[in-house]
Amino acid sequence: MNIAIIGAGATGMAAAYDLSIKGHSPKIYEASAFMGGHASTFDVGGTQLERGYHHWFTNDIDIINLLNEIGLGNEIKWFESKVGTLVNGKIYPFGTPLDLLRFSAINILDRLRLGLATLYIQKKMNFKDFENITASNWLSKNVGKNAYEIFWEPMLRGKFGEKFYDKISMAWIWGKVHTRLASRGSNFSKEKLGYPMGSFAQIFDVLSDKIKNSGGEINLSTLVNKVVTNKDKFIGLEISEKNSIKRLIKFDACLVTTPSHIFEKLVGDDLSLAYKNKIASIKYMSAVLIVLVLNKPLTDRYWLNIADRSIPFVAVIEHTNFIDSSNYSDKHIVYLSNYLDKDNYMYSMSHEELLEHYIPHLVKINPDFNSDWIETSYHHKIDYAQPIVGINYSKNIPDHKTPIQGLYLANTSQVYPEDRGTNYSVRMGRNLANTIMQSF
Ligand SMILES: Cc1cc2nc3c(=O)[nH]c(=O)nc-3n(C[C@H](O)[C@H](O)[C@H](O)COP(=O)(O)OP(=O)(O)OC[C@H]3O[C@@H](n4cnc5c(N)ncnc54)[C@H](O)[C@@H]3O)c2cc1C
Repeated sequence: MNIAIIGAGATGMAAAYDLSIKGHSPKIYEASAFMGGHASTFDVGGTQLERGYHHWFTNDIDIINLLNEIGLGNEIKWFESKVGTLVNGKIYPFGTPLDLLRFSAINILDRLRLGLATLYIQKKMNFKDFENITASNWLSKNVGKNAYEIFWEPMLRGKFGEKFYDKISMAWIWGKVHTRLASRGSNFSKEKLGYPMGSFAQIFDVLSDKIKNSGGEINLSTLVNKVVTNKDKFIGLEISEKNSIKRLIKFDACLVTTPSHIFEKLVGDDLSLAYKNKIASIKYMSAVLIVLVLNKPLTDRYWLNIADRSIPFVAVIEHTNFIDSSNYSDKHIVYLSNYLDKDNYMYSMSHEELLEHYIPHLVKINPDFNSDWIETSYHHKIDYAQPIVGINYSKNIPDHKTPIQGLYLANTSQVYPEDRGTNYSVRMGRNLANTIMQSF
């Protein structure tokens, strides 16, 4: 069967791997010059590092299984997560129930309510119980206004910004709580996070070799301009090659792994109104990251939530408090993270402007910080980074099988109720490969 895949991210590569080992020879078309999409990497002093921080939970079994299958299982290393929250200039560690009891930024009653509410969410097995209420409503009622504002609200603001943080469905929090608590084994054990020691680049390289060795093709720097259809049937792709020449290539089926809005533009008018309406209802946040390479550690935390609205970024992710700095020539790597909508003033700032904007706030995290610690920095803007999960989100998720025969869609907006992640992209890609094979 002649199958096209648009996008060489985790979804497209996982689908292509399964199709190729089952004897089909998929052809991937990827607009960028590199594989990996949102999980792609860049060079930091000779070592590959993800453009946006990445880790796995112990229950991310689909991607763990894939790595075992392709011979990279031993590359996954697990380390205790070091999470913290910055409140009023103090960093509170946040890894165990004991840390919660010691969280003196809120009173003891609020701490107990916070713990009990988390246990309640964990006991509820059906996310649908939480679908039609916003997280801000449910949490402020059930953990109390103060605990909500100091603990949960900064996380919601962190992921969805000023504009959307109070519109997020409680089902999204349900997904987060279930994933993270399941990842601990029991409530009282410390959370472990995993990382592929050769970086995500190694995964995409090995997948690429296996796909090509089984007869598949990966065409980088190849933009798909148009999905060509005839009434309700998929015909082929119009692509732009490196020399800008456009050509039409015919296929039996196509899996599109681009964000939904790009998918809609690629297909155009042939999509049904009902399907278009679902796509139109999906909104995304962009991730904007400054990556600092420091000659000293900034904190002792891997993940620091910032519950201080005078600081213009929402999380500090110190990668080298997770993966040892010896892997990065003894440098300390820190992501300053924001999820922004495109109207936010920081979205359009240049690298230098954003760095200048952020630097004065780093002393609020470590009073000894000095800008001489910064050896170099990078600026990454990742669009369509996080779908905005509003109430009753499940009703608006477009089907993987589109109304056009032979055309399939698989992207992060269809991951639900779990939060999007490479594990779910791999699961989705492999499921879709199966669906496509069975349909012929
Ligand atoms: C900042 C950040 C942090 C994250 N942290 C984690 C984490 O800790 N753990 C985790 O598991 N996951 C994490 N994720 C999520 C994870 O990266 C994504 O869920 C996953 O990589 C999505 O893969 P995908 O293949 O579905 O989409 P994408 O990676 O977006 O791939 C789609 C591909 O399609 C290509 N494309 C688009 N338009 C065209 C076109 N017209 N023609 C050809 N190609 C096109 C794009 O270039 C892209 O490569 C994070 C994401 C971000 C942004």
